[in-house]
Amino acid sequence: MRIVVLAGGIGGARFLRGLKSAAPDADITVIGNTGDDIHLFGLKVCPDLDTVMYTLGGGINEDQGWGRTDESFTVKEELAAYGVGPSWFGLGDRDFATHIVRTQMLSAGYPLSAVTEALCDRWQPGVRLLPMSDDRVETHVAIEDPESGERRVVHFQEYWVKMRAAVDAQAVVPVGADQAKPAPGVLEAIAAADLILFPPSNPVVSVGTILAVPGIREAVAEAAAPVVGLSPIVGGAPVRGMADKVLAAVGVESTAAAVALHYGSGLLDGWLVDTADAGSVAEVAAAGIRCRAVPLMMTDAEATAAMAREALALAGEAR
Ligand code: GDP
Ligand code: CA
Repeated sequence: MRIVVLAGGIGGARFLRGLKSAAPDADITVIGNTGDDIHLFGLKVCPDLDTVMYTLGGGINEDQGWGRTDESFTVKEELAAYGVGPSWFGLGDRDFATHIVRTQMLSAGYPLSAVTEALCDRWQPGVRLLPMSDDRVETHVAIEDPESGERRVVHFQEYWVKMRAAVDAQAVVPVGADQAKPAPGVLEAIAAADLILFPPSNPVVSVGTILAVPGIREAVAEAAAPVVGLSPIVGGAPVRGMADKVLAAVGVESTAAAVALHYGSGLLDGWLVDTADAGSVAEVAAAGIRCRAVPLMMTDAEATAAMAREALALAGEAR
């Protein structure tokens, strides 16, 4: 079975681990969000691709959900001693090596998709990991500056990591997406898929950004395969992170049902909500999306694998 997953960082990566154990023989292609990418210290950092790669490759810091296990921060401290920031973005010594290799290969002319493949040679994530695009896309967020009161646009990472999404997001823009082309293999994988999954990733800045690359949304909508999503919103709030802030910016309520309707029946054939949101099943079903309430908390490997099995079962019915 060929499965395509549109993934962000932590939510996507953790779900993928469960999917691999639920469907060990499946041929899984991950289309990763690159809208979170940022240039720091002259290096190209791809947080979501790396979170998937490290999580599936056994190198992730499990408690944090991002970055490397057994990490040290000597380079960061040395940079700070020179007064060179930003200090708010955590880059450890081991992680730095990944970004050095990536930047070196990009400078030598390799596209990001080839670089990602080379990095995965080491990590063997057990999935084919493709960036959504080889072209540069950077999500920016419009805010009202808390000090000056003026409207300002910041990089998504500045909003998310530095400001901890403390102010409202007025708009979220995947800068460059409208000019970007899907990376080689992306449209082919979607067209050839037997199943397409939206993991419990951020619907705006992860899955939404991937769908904003011209051609990808259309390919998913037209794919022969059923499309099944899992809600990242449980009981009216994101399980972790600040997805409610970016959902508000696009006018979507932070409920499992509202996120399903935001994707819409043009994209989704099936949608899983948590048992806490069982009351919203009828509303989603009424919109023409097959819906079921099952436990959706990725508390451990078995619970996560069970979520993946539920998604596979729902897809079987949605065919
Ligand atoms: P990011 O790029 O690291 O923010 O990761 P993603 O976009 O892939 O996933 C973030 C989303 O995952 C957030 O909206 C969370 O609510 C959701 N999430 C995290 N853990 C869980 C979980 O255990 N269950 C569910 N249903 N959603 C989760
Ligand atoms: Ca992300």
